[in-house]
Amino acid sequence: MSDPRELLRTTFGFPDFRGVQRDVIDRVLAGERTLAVMPTGAGKSLTYQLPAVMLEGTCLVVSPLIALMHDQLRAAEAVGIRAATLTSADDNRDETIDRFRRGDLDLLYVAPERASGEGFRNLLRQAPLSMFAIDEAHCVSEWGHDFRPDYRLLRPLLDAFPELPRLALTATADAHTRADILDQLGIPHDGLIIAGFDRPNIRYAITNTASKGSAIASLVKRTPGAGIVYATSRDRTEKLAATLAGTGRPTRFYHAGMAPDQRRRAQAEFVRSEDMVMVATIAFGMGIDKPDVRFVAHAGLPKSIEGYYQESGRAGRDGDPAVAHLFWAPGDFTRAREWLAEMPENRRASERARLDALAGLVETAQCRRAVLLRYFGESPPERCGNCDNCLHAPGVQDATQIARKLLSAVYRTGQRFGVGHLEKVLAGARDERIDKWGHDRLSVFGVADAEEMVLVKPVARALQARGVLVPNEHGGLALGGNAREILRGEAKVEVVLAAEPERGGRKKRGE
Ligand code: ADP
Ligand code: ZN
Repeated sequence: MSDPRELLRTTFGFPDFRGVQRDVIDRVLAGERTLAVMPTGAGKSLTYQLPAVMLEGTCLVVSPLIALMHDQLRAAEAVGIRAATLTSADDNRDETIDRFRRGDLDLLYVAPERASGEGFRNLLRQAPLSMFAIDEAHCVSEWGHDFRPDYRLLRPLLDAFPELPRLALTATADAHTRADILDQLGIPHDGLIIAGFDRPNIRYAITNTASKGSAIASLVKRTPGAGIVYATSRDRTEKLAATLAGTGRPTRFYHAGMAPDQRRRAQAEFVRSEDMVMVATIAFGMGIDKPDVRFVAHAGLPKSIEGYYQESGRAGRDGDPAVAHLFWAPGDFTRAREWLAEMPENRRASERARLDALAGLVETAQCRRAVLLRYFGESPPERCGNCDNCLHAPGVQDATQIARKLLSAVYRTGQRFGVGHLEKVLAGARDERIDKWGHDRLSVFGVADAEEMVLVKPVARALQARGVLVPNEHGGLALGGNAREILRGEAKVEVVLAAEPERGGRKKRGE
């Protein structure tokens, strides 16, 4: 067996491992089970490709998307790795199975639904296997942003080969999802390796605006280089592309409703171009190798912080300065909360937590990067110097008093009620639950006046963004770090003054 570093140079042509790659590879080569959480672009594929070449037998790679598998197949074959995909889109399946049996493959890519079948498990018994790699491993968790029930069927397959190393990979997983992935895939908790999430060359900015189209047009005008603009529907993609074409920049659009060859053409033109603006739904970007994207703009809310990180992370993969600018309007949240109400009960709590975290990011007066990185479990410096809030401090309102009242209500009600119930306690409103729990007898019952009540929700979000309040899986809030400082009056709490404040009242649909 050769040395990993030697193989990195000779086969992959890279002088050195990046970040945690070596740690992950060492664990795999030692036969351990591992979950590697590495941001997009950090080089996850190498962590199974290299062991796959070193180890005797075939590495089985489970991957959720056929398009992604074919991209990875091309990349692996380009460096001379013996690889194949086994999907419904391949017509050389017999040949592949033959090669697999003969031990003539380093990598075999399959979809989870195929991997979990009984016939496939028998095939695996007849072929030399070296390890399992489970890509996009967050798909196994209902807490993840992209749950796929088929991933749940993998466990029996993995457990049928308990001696083989298993490597789960994901770019995006909060602490909750990570713990769930470990449990679901049978990986010990000390098998978790997390790479740094910071992308220091990306300048983050988030703007509250009623006219996203013209705001993005002016961003396009002042930002040279290729850029991606994410819109929230197919229809909006086309409309926004028409608006942006008015800036004189070459503009294309991309969404899942287009014919495949149309999509391919738009994508190829974008990858080649140095100044094109691509207006797309989030269907665009996965598996696209374009390191010199200079800006990513969001016209509306992303689905989650994970989604935002992944999409904005397509900017500046070459390490040169790049911009990620999100434009939102309070109405976006109103709509998102309406959708929430229509979701199946079992998904609602996790989706609500996701939405609250997102609200915490867009409404914060603090460093955007710090909020993002804390969400991924890191402990970043208070200020980065390369985001809108660090560069131009926003207008803020002191909310320390109501924050203290809220924290004390959280504490006195036992750290398990959601913000709706806490609002009732603070406002002194009675209902069945208040009576049942005797919350009307608490000292915090009715301590907030009308002016303060307006601030409760924004404050709750700001405190969540800072980790002072921590939501549990049912949306109940508990006290986290720094709560004591605020309760004692040693730390201030501020909320950002929105250009158009989110009103408590509900908009009628279709208005
Ligand atoms: P991910 O799947 O984590 O998004 P990839 O595996 O696609 O990332 O790798 C991103 C890019 O980084 C690829 O172009 C890959 O060739 C490159 N890369 C991976 N490892 C290294 C390394 N050790 N040194 C230099 N480039 C690397
Ligand atoms: Zn900052």
